[in-house]
Amino acid sequence: MALNEFQLIERYFAAGGLRREDVVLGIGDDAALLRVPPGMELAVSIDTLVEGVHFPAGTQAAAVGHKALAVGLSDLAAMGAEPAWATLSLSLPEADEDWLGGFASGLSALAGRYGVQLVGGDTVRGPLVVTLQVHGLVPAGQALRRRGARPGDRVYVTGTLGDAGLGLRLLRGELQATAADTAYARGRLDLPQPRVETGLALRGIASAAIDVSDGLAADLGHILEVGGVGAVIDASALPLSEALVRSVEPAAALELALTAGDDYELCFTVPAAKVEDLAGLSCTCIGQIEAGCGLRVAAADGSPVPLDHLGFDHFGGGEGA
Ligand code: ADP
Ligand code: MG
Repeated sequence: MALNEFQLIERYFAAGGLRREDVVLGIGDDAALLRVPPGMELAVSIDTLVEGVHFPAGTQAAAVGHKALAVGLSDLAAMGAEPAWATLSLSLPEADEDWLGGFASGLSALAGRYGVQLVGGDTVRGPLVVTLQVHGLVPAGQALRRRGARPGDRVYVTGTLGDAGLGLRLLRGELQATAADTAYARGRLDLPQPRVETGLALRGIASAAIDVSDGLAADLGHILEVGGVGAVIDASALPLSEALVRSVEPAAALELALTAGDDYELCFTVPAAKVEDLAGLSCTCIGQIEAGCGLRVAAADGSPVPLDHLGFDHFGGGEGA
């Protein structure tokens, strides 16, 4: 590498960025030293993005930097944890300074927005793979979990669903849309906005929560499975962007909203008695938890929407870019 490992780390990852008071020792030693305040629990999550699998080859470097952190912050949001620190393992084919500069700027812009300090990592030569670990703080016992939904709880999601899936299909040339709708959907795929503030606000309100990374049906399915409950979703209540509605037929929009991944919205359940505590939060009620197991989807008139027509046989585990 033209730039040696130490110069690269110094230039792109150690210099600049915000400094948190709870970082006793950051980048530069054999390990970081971090202070977890008394009464708080540490929430830790790690994700790996492989070029060509988790982001399309040729994605702008700044978007890769943004997305690497965004997916982790989305996990912290789903736990109701406040973002604090990040560590980064970077495998790069070469020390391409343009790429590194873009990557670091995308990463540090999002880190700055949420007060996250990059406190360490590893840098190696290899295929383009970005592994980022986030560390967040949550008052002991107050983290949101996937388990906890009870029959009668309402099911909510933030934002709109299916947009990242639309972006991916447009990118692959499987669909066509206007330039403006394409730009919007591509933005949703490349630059997901983690719902950190909503996750924090849901402490003490949500009975269960998860972030939608693999598609609503799959991720809500996890809440149902660990909770030993079922759910009915109103297809007509699913929040869809105007871009999605304009770009595909209603059946395809429903399929994307239920099965496409990468939206990084939150899906959560709220006991009926706490629904009014959601005032001021931007989210949409899409259905209700019920006794039993599995997910049912109903049309506006209550008639069942057959899931096997929605590509449910191939949604398992989500999909890569
Ligand atoms: P070691 O050989 O002891 O693992 P390294 O030489 O790999 O240490 O890293 C030196 C310092 O730079 C460490 O503090 C490490 O956490 C940090 N570091 C290395 N790569 C990155 C990176 N991509 N982002 C942030 N910090 C990094
Ligand atoms: Mg090392």
